[in-house]
Amino acid sequence: MAEQTARLLLLTAAVGLAWGSQGDREPVYRDCVLQCEERNCSGDALKHFRSLQPIYMSLAGWTCRDDCKYECMWFTVGLYLQEGHRVPQFHGKWPFSRFLFIQEPASAVASLLNGLASLVMLCRYRASVPASSPMYHTCMAFAWVSLNAWFWSTVFHTRDTDLTEKMDYFCASAVILYSVYLCCVRTVGLQHPSVASAFGVLLLLLLSAHISYLSLVRFDYGYNMMANVAIGLVNLAWWLAWCLRNRRRLPHTRRCVVVVLLLQALSLLELLDFPPLFWVLDAHAIWHISTIPLHILFFRFLEDDSLYLLKESEAKFKLD
Ligand SMILES: [Zn+2]
Repeated sequence: MAEQTARLLLLTAAVGLAWGSQGDREPVYRDCVLQCEERNCSGDALKHFRSLQPIYMSLAGWTCRDDCKYECMWFTVGLYLQEGHRVPQFHGKWPFSRFLFIQEPASAVASLLNGLASLVMLCRYRASVPASSPMYHTCMAFAWVSLNAWFWSTVFHTRDTDLTEKMDYFCASAVILYSVYLCCVRTVGLQHPSVASAFGVLLLLLLSAHISYLSLVRFDYGYNMMANVAIGLVNLAWWLAWCLRNRRRLPHTRRCVVVVLLLQALSLLELLDFPPLFWVLDAHAIWHISTIPLHILFFRFLEDDSLYLLKESEAKFKLD
């Protein structure tokens, strides 16, 4: 009995520290998880669980405890719906129907498609733009930074752990910062390479400080979002100002305008927070789906712009 009480107290402490959504604060859910773990996750019962668990589940790192949480989440959701209450969140997330080992199938597939779109456009850019174009290497690096972010986004939405969550967040911040750097190289760096290099070092230091704070001090979701929004606004304002100033001379900049404006407008989708439709499609997944065509548009702009810069530099070379 004393042991039971101690475990309950420990559980309550753990709940206070790490658990924070309505669903997982529910005593019914907590009891369900506790009982499930006691029943299935130790000794012979655990051996039995492992013998029945499909190989792809264990390879993806699904444990007996994770399975208990998943089953108890649906049990609790069932009770909520039966009583006519609104669907609650669990551990900061809506309940999602798992597909095989994939935790959030719609966001995972959309992230994969974003990555594929980046990859296709990277190949297309490499095939159509000669390496001698002034922006070639900066644009190629942007494609790789973006591809890396979509890889981690796919991994995170497939399997949410502390590590995959951090990698998703950090790599997404790296893309926004790299986009600001790309803009700096295009608008200032071609005439003053040392300014772009110094600005690149500054951005790298900013990213390092951001990652160090979030991983060594405290993982603060609010601060992370504000930092990304702030850098996103700098990115929007800088690209937009340059595009509008050059819109007559460089008609291809209109694709860039469409991309930065749409990106900003679509990111508002993240503010809509509703339980997933069919337990699959939530606002975050819709946001990921909506960005797929933007890669195509942005790389079409980079391609046209790089070819324009190449022509311009060749003309200058001839004049010299
Ligand atoms: Zn995501």
